[in-house]
Amino acid sequence: MHEIILCKLGEVVLKGLNRRSFEMKLMSNLRRRTAKFGKFKIYSRQSTIYVEPVGDDYDFESAYAACKQVFGIIATARAVPCEKTKEAILETAKQYLGDAMGAAKSFKVESKRADKSFPMGSIQLSQWVGGYLHEAFPHVKVDVHNPELTVYVEVREDAAYVHAPAEPAAGGLPIGMGGHAVSLLSGGIDSPVSSFMIAKRGVQLEMLHFASPPYTSEMAREKVLQLARELTSWCGRLTVHIVPFTEIQEAIRRDCDEEYFTLIMRRFMMRIADKLARELACRAVVTGESLGQVASQTLQALAVSDDAITMPVLRPLIGMDKEEIVRLSRYVGTFDTSILPYEDCCTVFTPRHPKTRPEVEEVRAIESVLDVEGLCAQALARREMVKIKPL
Ligand code: ATP
Ligand code: MG
Repeated sequence: MHEIILCKLGEVVLKGLNRRSFEMKLMSNLRRRTAKFGKFKIYSRQSTIYVEPVGDDYDFESAYAACKQVFGIIATARAVPCEKTKEAILETAKQYLGDAMGAAKSFKVESKRADKSFPMGSIQLSQWVGGYLHEAFPHVKVDVHNPELTVYVEVREDAAYVHAPAEPAAGGLPIGMGGHAVSLLSGGIDSPVSSFMIAKRGVQLEMLHFASPPYTSEMAREKVLQLARELTSWCGRLTVHIVPFTEIQEAIRRDCDEEYFTLIMRRFMMRIADKLARELACRAVVTGESLGQVASQTLQALAVSDDAITMPVLRPLIGMDKEEIVRLSRYVGTFDTSILPYEDCCTVFTPRHPKTRPEVEEVRAIESVLDVEGLCAQALARREMVKIKPL
């Protein structure tokens, strides 16, 4: 009895005429993400994609876990195919779901019949299989309204399938269908979560990190690469563009008022993100900012940042509380790495009294003593690209 994976499509099914291209993308994403766990045949029927192992050399558990993290899939289920006869379906259900039946107090059978040449209707088939299952497991009551266990039977063209209830999966839209964006990745809790949220909407991300050696350490850099690596379970392959930020920070510290330090630094981040995004044919910049969380995230401070960039800035965490972000961060799997205590470039040279209600005009004036274009161009030219292999 070899198991297969059923992947239920989420919002993709609402895509009307574009649906086919969404499905094709989803299948190629699934193919890439399962490839290292063996050979799998991947095909779609109705609103389900089937992932079926080929040969004997594969790791089913890992492939199943990988499918659950592919955006575009709303639920996954394990199933076993069997011959298209009622006897084979019953026998398979007994064997495959025997343990689950043994543990349940009540059950029902729900059948779907895509193959209309099958000699029984779906209700009849449910009743027949349900009746015999009840005989085999007499302590489990039949309850069609609120059963503890639902045994699913699907009769399709090529085979019949028996499966247990589906489990929730990643949801969202297939990566690649939403275009590309540059995501600003620090070592904190927030930016891996904001990256996850935008990737979930089908966007392929290019990660941008600012490093300030020797103020920030090799460990801090490794931490960011590790976060990117953890994100690959959701995002697939990623590239981290590491931009040296030390000279910019030193120039700001030398020539600008201390209270404006963070604001001006953030404007530099935005400018460089904008330039990198254009170079990489991206259409937006993503940050992990959340309204009011720190001095540089007040409405006025955000306006000062936005003044330095023309690309749209996506801030998916803007209305979220820290607690909600932490919860998501645990779900994404980046929390434990995020809380490792290494410094970020934002934590070096922080002003004692940062401006919380800055005016765009005054920040522009203070910053005008710097060679803004030259500093940005130089930092970008010296960037390093690190390709992250999926976990
Ligand atoms: P995080 O937890 O993501 O570090 P934060 O609450 O510490 O966020 P800030 O340090 O003000 O807030 O940073 C706000 C956003 O700016 C981050 O979410 C991230 O998108 C971006 N950012 C901050 N520092 C860096 C960095 N060194 N490299 C790239 N992006 C950064
Ligand atoms: Mg931070």
